Amino acid sequence: MSVRPLTGRVVLATHNAGKLAEMRDLLAPYGLDLVSAGALGLPEPVENGTMFAENAAIKALAAARATGLPALADDSGLAVDALDGAPGLFTADWAGKPRDFSAAMARVERELRLREIEPEGARAHFVSALVVAWPDGETLIAEGRVFGALTFPPRGSLGFGYDPIFVPDGHARTFGEMDAGEKHGLTRVAGQLQGLSHRARAFIRLVGRAGLGRP
Ligand code: IMP
Repeated sequence: MSVRPLTGRVVLATHNAGKLAEMRDLLAPYGLDLVSAGALGLPEPVENGTMFAENAAIKALAAARATGLPALADDSGLAVDALDGAPGLFTADWAGKPRDFSAAMARVERELRLREIEPEGARAHFVSALVVAWPDGETLIAEGRVFGALTFPPRGSLGFGYDPIFVPDGHARTFGEMDAGEKHGLTRVAGQLQGLSHRARAFIRLVGRAGLGRP
C-alpha cells in the first residue's frame, strides 16, 4: 500500500475545542502547519452518516474541498453497553444546544436507571474515527476504541465532554481527572507506539498510513 505524505499546511476540521486541543497535541511532534476550520471560517457540514467514519469523512472532505488543503477530522462518541450503544452517533446531541455536558452525563445516568441498571460501573467505550482527506477526494480512515466503566457523580474538571464519568480499564481515575498527556497515554513498547484514549489509538493507526513519519 502506498503512503501519501501528509506535510505542510493541514486543516483540523472540527469546531469542538476539546477535540481541537487533543488533535493539536497529538500532531505537535510532526512539524505540520495546523489551522482549524473555525479559524478559517468554514461552516460545519451536516453529519448525516450512519457510522462514525462516515461522519468524519464528511467533515474532512468538506474542509479539504473548501480549502484545497489536506484536512483531518474526528467523529467520536460514547457507547454504553446497557443502552444498546447509545448515545453513540448522538453523543454530542445528548448535550442539547447550547451544549451542556452536565445534562448529557445526567441523561446517561437517568436512562440507565429507567432500565433498572445500576449506573455505577456500567460498561461503556469511547470510539474515535479519524479521517484524513485530500482535495482530490482521497481519504484515509483509522478507528480507535477505549473500554471502561462509568462512574457517578462525574469527577474531574480536565478534558471535555463525557470525560468526568469515564474510567478507562486498568485505571482508578476518570479521564476528567487526567491531564492530556495521561489521557493520550502515548508510550513506546518494544519500539511500537501505544496509546490509551480512543483518539490516541486511532491516531497511532493513522500515523504511517498518512505518511507522517516517526517524530
Ligand atoms: P461529534 O464527533 O462532533 O459528533 O461529537 C462527539 C461527542 O462525543 C463530543 O461532543 C463529546 O461530547 C463526546 N466525546 C468524543 N470524544 C470524547 C472524549 O475524548 N472525551 C469526552 N467526550 C468525548
